[in-house]
Amino acid sequence: MTKNNSILTVIALGSNLGNSQETLKLALETIANIEGITIKKYSSFYQTAPIGPEQPDYINACALLETTLEPNQLLQTLQNIENKFGRVRQERWGARTLDLDIIIYGDLILNEPDLIIPHLLMNERAFVLIPLAEIAPDLIEPKSGLTINQLLAKVDQTGVKLIN
Ligand code: AMP
Repeated sequence: MTKNNSILTVIALGSNLGNSQETLKLALETIANIEGITIKKYSSFYQTAPIGPEQPDYINACALLETTLEPNQLLQTLQNIENKFGRVRQERWGARTLDLDIIIYGDLILNEPDLIIPHLLMNERAFVLIPLAEIAPDLIEPKSGLTINQLLAKVDQTGVKLIN
């Protein structure tokens, strides 16, 4: 059940090792079962050309949540799930079984050493903005004050394909 003090939050999901579509489905189920989180919507899955070292394509998606968790609790929860799915951090931007990022947390602007909200690179990343525009085109990114659709219009959208 959604509580009154819950915050509308966006997370991004990504995977490029193993059966990535299955991993994202299981990750969404896991997140849906966490107390203090309600999944309101989630996007289609998209296949995305990788940034960084040579590695397989990613599968990416976004989910719109309501949560009563504090930002740091939410980060910890997402990191526990990443670990459960066996993500091994090897190289920066390298291949991973599951990557979960907090993109937006209400209208919060946070700059802590281990948590930056809105996510630092969200406004440049078509693989975040395309799935997010599918489920929340009019949501406002609080730092720029622009909607997701407005941000999407500024980025190169090549390399992100909808999976049917
Ligand atoms: P990555 O390897 O890209 O998943 O980065 C993970 C690191 O980014 C973690 O150590 C987090 O503390 C940090 N981080 C900073 N801001 C965020 C955010 N908005 N969502 C998730 N991780 C974040």
